[in-house]
Parts: sequence; C-alpha cells; structure tokens
Amino acid sequence: MAKQEDVFKAVVAHAKEYGFVFQSSEIYDGLSAVYDYGQNGVELKNNIKRYWWEAMTMLHDNIVGIDSAIFMHPTIWKASGHVDAFNDPLIDNRDSKKRYRADVLIEDAIAKFDEKADKEVAKARKRFGESFDETLFRQTNPRVLEQMRKKEELHTRFAEAMNANDLEELKQIILDYEIVDPISGTRNWTDVRQFNLMFKTEMGSTADGAMEVYLRPETAQGIFVNYLNVQKTGRMRIPFGIAQIGKAFRNEIVARQFIFRMREFEQMEMQFFVRPGEELKWFDYWRSERLKWHKALGLGDDKYRYHDHEKLAHYANAATDIEFLMPFGFKEVEGIHSRTDFDLSQHEKFSGKKIRYFDPELNESYVPYVIETSIGVDRMFLSVLCSCYEEQDLGGGDSRVVLHFPAPIAPVKCAVLPLVKKDGLPEKAREIQHKLRFDMACVVDEKDSIGKRYRRQDAIGTPFCITVDHQTLEDGTVTLRYRDSMEQVRLAVDEIDRIMVEKVNLNTLLKKLV
Ligand code: ATP
Repeated sequence: MAKQEDVFKAVVAHAKEYGFVFQSSEIYDGLSAVYDYGQNGVELKNNIKRYWWEAMTMLHDNIVGIDSAIFMHPTIWKASGHVDAFNDPLIDNRDSKKRYRADVLIEDAIAKFDEKADKEVAKARKRFGESFDETLFRQTNPRVLEQMRKKEELHTRFAEAMNANDLEELKQIILDYEIVDPISGTRNWTDVRQFNLMFKTEMGSTADGAMEVYLRPETAQGIFVNYLNVQKTGRMRIPFGIAQIGKAFRNEIVARQFIFRMREFEQMEMQFFVRPGEELKWFDYWRSERLKWHKALGLGDDKYRYHDHEKLAHYANAATDIEFLMPFGFKEVEGIHSRTDFDLSQHEKFSGKKIRYFDPELNESYVPYVIETSIGVDRMFLSVLCSCYEEQDLGGGDSRVVLHFPAPIAPVKCAVLPLVKKDGLPEKAREIQHKLRFDMACVVDEKDSIGKRYRRQDAIGTPFCITVDHQTLEDGTVTLRYRDSMEQVRLAVDEIDRIMVEKVNLNTLLKKLV
C-alpha cells in the first residue's frame, strides 16, 4: 500500500477494529471530533502518560506534579488573554459550505513549495545515482532555488499578516495564491473572521445568579494560579517546575485527521519557573530535553524536526514546535514556549495578589519567568500508532498487520497461549500468567488456532507470546515468540521472565534520558 492517505485510512480502521479508538457516541451517529479510547487504547494512552509523568517528576528533583480542576474562575481566562485573543481566523467556501482555518490553508500552500523542491531532488537522485550530492543540488539548482524563493516570499507575507492580525490581507493572500477549496475546487471564499475557541457553560442555578464559566482550553493556567501554593507548601526554590496531565477543550473550527485535532483532548504540560534573564538558556535546555524524550522511544530519529515560530504569541519571546512525520506530513506534537512573566504578571494584576519569588541568592523579589513544555497525549498516541503500524508481506500469500510498539508502552506485554484447550495446558498457562502479571500486563488467549492467535497479538502490538505445550508439563520449558522477528526460542519459564521483565519495563526508556 504505497499511498500515505491509504495507510492513514488503514490505521484509523485498525484502531477501531482492535479496540484502540472509537468515535464518541457512535450508536447515535457520532459526535464530531470527539473520540473514546477502547480497551487497548486506554492502556497505550496510560503508558504514554506514565512515561511522560515519570520522566518529569521522577527524573527531576525540582519538578512536582499537580492535578487542578477543569472549572476555574472565569476571570482567569480574562487575565490569560483567552477571552479576547484565543481566536482562529476562519474562512468559508460558498460552494462546498465548508469552513477552514485561513492560516492552515496558507501553511499548506507554503508546504507545497517544499514538496515541489523535494520532487526535483528525487528526480535528480534517480538521474545521478550514487554520486548525487543533495546539499550541493539544493544550493545550486535553479528550479529548487526558485521554489525556495517563492516559499520565502509567501512565508514573509503570511507572518506579517498574522502578526498584525490583518484578516483582509489573509484573504488577499488566499486569492493571490489561487488557493482552492480542496472539496469544491473553487475560489469562492467569504471574508476571514475571528472565532473564539473556548466552550462556555453555566455554573450554579439561575435563581442564585448563574456564573458563566469556561471549559479550560489548556491545562497551563491551573498551574499558574497554583504557583504560590506549590512554591510555598513545597518550599520550592527557583528554578523549579510544575507538571500536570489533564483534559482541555477547544471548539476547533476544522476537526480533521482523526485524533490529531479534537474538541476534547488531553495535554501533558510542565511550567518551569526561572530567574528573569535566564529564560532563553532554559528554553534551549527544554528544547533539547524534550526531543531526547521523544527519540528515546526509538520510532526513528528522522521522523522529528523542530519548527521555530515566526509569529510569536503575545506572551512569548521564543517558541518551537517538535513536529512528527505523520502520514499526512510533519505536524506539531509538542510546543516549547518561553512565556516570559506574562501569565504570572497578569494574574497579579487581575487578582490583586502578589505573585513573587524571593530569591535568597540575589536578595530580591521578582515575578518568575516561565518555560512551558506542552504536549498533546492524543497526538503523541497518534504518532506512535502511525509509525508502529506495518502491513507485512510474509511471502507465499501470507501477510500480517503488526504494531511495532516500543515494549514498555505496549498495551499488552505478553500473551500466554496454551497450544490446545485440554490436557491441563490452559491451567498451566494461567499459572504462568498469574506469576507474570505482577510485573507486566499479561493475558491468556486460548481461542482459535495458534497461528490466528499470534496474528491477533501482532495486531495489538504484544511484544512477546509464550506458548505452553505438552513438553511444558514435563520439563517446564515454553516457546517464546518475538513479535518483530517472529523468531521462536525454547526456554525455561524463569529464564523468559528475566528476558521480558527488562525489556518491558518503563525504566528501560527512562534510563536513556539520564
Ligand atoms: P495547533 O496549531 O495544531 O492548533 P496549537 O499550537 O494551538 O496547535 P498548543 O496550544 O501549543 O497547540 O497546545 C499544545 C499541544 O496540545 C499541541 O502541541 C498538541 O499536541 C495539543 N493540542 C492542541 N490542540 C489540540 C487538539 N485540538 N486536539 C488534540 N491535541 C491538541
């Protein structure tokens, strides 16, 4: 299956068929851009969260966690700027009646220049073979240079329009670059308008005077408003961080690409409080630390890249995204932002409370600066799922779908399979499982032929299968099958336990980070 679009469709179908992700409210025809995680999905998701949480709180003496409420005082969102500025520029196509984000349409057009240049490079590589020097070709080939010039031109114009919040100019860019609606193929666009992404609801009964509250669009503010509580009760000294995992809600205009853009999603955020003037040093530190965390999973170093922001949010003085190569291109998975003292200063202003740190070394008080690392659990999940998915041709008309999950985050680590459902083999399998389950997620699977069971475990990414047969009853040995190589070895049960425990342990990943 060559086309990436087809691969993505297959991944989405697989995610449903094997209990990873379901459309929310499916029996009522679904709710757009809202998803539920199934029996295997929730395990993978929990393992990703545990990997992040432990990397943050266990490997850093100066990072602690919190779990703040989703509902917060509405003034918080005034102070943070979300009420006035958490907008996306949207545009409608009059023919398809579809709504798009104007910035995303333009970003896609910018990416097309890269695609054209890449095509030139691929053609030249074919022509020149082994002697091809890609760097030199990119620096000198007139067609590649022309694409890069056009890209730069559009990029500059786009960045200026976004920074100035110039909605007319955004529309003009869409018209000038002849960007068409991918569905209707026409350029019959409306004007660009701003659209606030926060969900509103009411708290308390109307008789009491209900209060309008928001579902939080990010978890970060829950950390900022608890800065003093944690700093004081934890006697934290700067630099220190507060980590949190939790749900966030955004009324996304265009909900596309499965769990990539959802209206209810989960974030893992860490705010790191530093001395003013030291923020860019810490920004660089977290920029590389976070990439290390991603790469330790072993999904492929070439699948990541940084994307430094042109348009900085009103509060930021540096920002980078870590992008991952999804089947639909390089896309943001995590943002690292230097947020200055914006948030804490705003909360000082709006709450009237002093939010300071007394620095004993400098003998002065200041509002700390903040570096934020913010990653979406669901996007991380999607990047793992897409990059681990493989349809393998085994020759002789045989094939399998396998998920090559890194063993420490696989939903099931080990399946114990009695060769037949009699002669005491199922009982022996249970005995082995009951021992192993204290160390890892371990199941017994006794339905269908052994071949079918192997395929089923491959399809949910189980790294190890243990087969129990008649010989097991005699000498205590079993067959260990490796998911990726399909190699099978005969070993004593205790030996297998030792081999697996090390491979499936989250510590194996965490140790790569220190
Ligand atoms: P985008 O530009 O894709 O809308 P963003 O820059 O607004 O994302 P941030 O506000 O920086 O995103 O949020 C931090 C992280 O939260 C993102 O890197 C992403 O992983 C995740 N995230 C944001 N919006 C969504 C969403 N609608 N669905 C799933 N994950 C999301």
